[in-house]
Amino acid sequence: MNFNTEQAIYIGGEWQGGISTITNINPSDLSQDLGQFSQASRQQVDQAISAARQAQPIWEKTPLEQKQKALQAIGDELIARCDELGTLLSKEEGKPFAEGRGEVYRSGQFFHYFAAEVLRQMGDLADSVRPGVSVEVSREAVGVVAIISPWNFPVATAAWKIAPALAFGNSVIWKPANLTPASAVALADIIHRQDLPAGTFNLVLGSGSEVGDALIHSDKIDAVSFTGSVDTGRKIATATAANFVKCQLEMGSKNALVIADDADINIAVEATIAGSYSGAGQKCTASSRLVVLESIHDKYVDALIKRMSQLKVGHALEKDVFMGPVVDDKQLAANFDWIDKAHHHGADLAFGGQRLALEHEGYYMSPTLLLNTKNDWDLNQEEVFAPLASVIKVKDLDEAIATVNDTRFGLTAGIITQSLRSSALFKQQAQTGCVMVNLPTAGTDYHVPFGGRKQSSFGPREQGQYAKEFYTVIKTAYQRPY
Ligand code: NAD
Repeated sequence: MNFNTEQAIYIGGEWQGGISTITNINPSDLSQDLGQFSQASRQQVDQAISAARQAQPIWEKTPLEQKQKALQAIGDELIARCDELGTLLSKEEGKPFAEGRGEVYRSGQFFHYFAAEVLRQMGDLADSVRPGVSVEVSREAVGVVAIISPWNFPVATAAWKIAPALAFGNSVIWKPANLTPASAVALADIIHRQDLPAGTFNLVLGSGSEVGDALIHSDKIDAVSFTGSVDTGRKIATATAANFVKCQLEMGSKNALVIADDADINIAVEATIAGSYSGAGQKCTASSRLVVLESIHDKYVDALIKRMSQLKVGHALEKDVFMGPVVDDKQLAANFDWIDKAHHHGADLAFGGQRLALEHEGYYMSPTLLLNTKNDWDLNQEEVFAPLASVIKVKDLDEAIATVNDTRFGLTAGIITQSLRSSALFKQQAQTGCVMVNLPTAGTDYHVPFGGRKQSSFGPREQGQYAKEFYTVIKTAYQRPY
């Protein structure tokens, strides 16, 4: 790290200290402290908002190629440094190095994609219904955008918000999660070295209840883009509505993967391993419900358990580790609570369920599989956010689809099948924003829209060209010649 963690608040183009600090602990090795990171005060949030307000019109009018170059350079640096920054991300979040590196690389691709979008901003022309009058429909920046992001994809979720916000001429105040401040400061440091008017980009580290709360209740911001839990999303929707501030919320889910009776077992097992256990299951797109047709149930479960027994759990930076620790002690305790409750309900623990004592003390647990669970149990209705998947046995595809949709969430759903009819039916009937056929429920592209339905998402979609719905406002101009 070549930055000062105690001068980690970035406002109006300057690094500042905060009112206190927090300690960043490596979840793979609790003896390793990654630094004391500044926490911003409410006054600093106000300062960041006024810096962003001043800079925004200047940035919006900055020549297109200057904007494009700045975004391209951020993407270039993220990609060039993905080994180094991926290591940092893996250290503070706990995901294995391949995933940390991949996340930083992908974040660079978000900046490259939106660098190109800077040069692709066009409007529409129309004839008016009034003879001789013309109509122009164009898009302008929303203004000052507050970005509030979670710890589980600390760089990618921020990148897919910051890049379009800047591309469309907005200024940004970013509040990352307190569990992953180092990745945030590293990204802010890259942005700081670009040719942006001071105040175009600001970073305020701090808790949700202080810094986040100050941001979302401000009537001096124009929009909030949030990724995180449903409970926080609800608070943001309420606070922003009071000031008529635009908001976009990407929240939790309870994604299901259906294993149809004609599924290829290898594809089913690999999609389950990637969807349920990569990132230690701490993904909004994780397959936490495995909806399995009874005719294939035993064969699939046997093959899955065999594969699970081969997964290496360990320090995020150790070679060949498939799964690192979970993020903190609260998450670990909550995971074991879910396993205990499921056991009392009558679920069978088919694999895992143990805390692991490894060479370094960390928040390690084994990947866990529960059998004979029911869809209406809390376990299958609430987001668990753990390396824990539960099997729900069903008799046919109709029951499988009804089970997939029997939830208040709707981010992703998947099916493993060789039948064109089943996949077509599933794509049509799944009540989710993303549908995967013969693929894990987790893992999406960066150039197409991403988001969910029901309580998983609120507001316009993120990513790809659809991002402009949120980051711009429309102007309709009528003109009559002299
Ligand atoms: P969280 O809701 O606890 O925190 C998210 C962010 O909101 C953090 O920066 C936090 O400090 C901030 N925050 C918390 N309380 C706040 C308040 N009162 N006002 C303003 N800001 C506040 O979520 P988390 O634990 O960091 O992340 C995990 C959640 O994120 C899961 O529910 C997961 O499904 C979701 N997630 C969703 C997506 C998606 O695209 N749908 C992607 C990744 C994660």
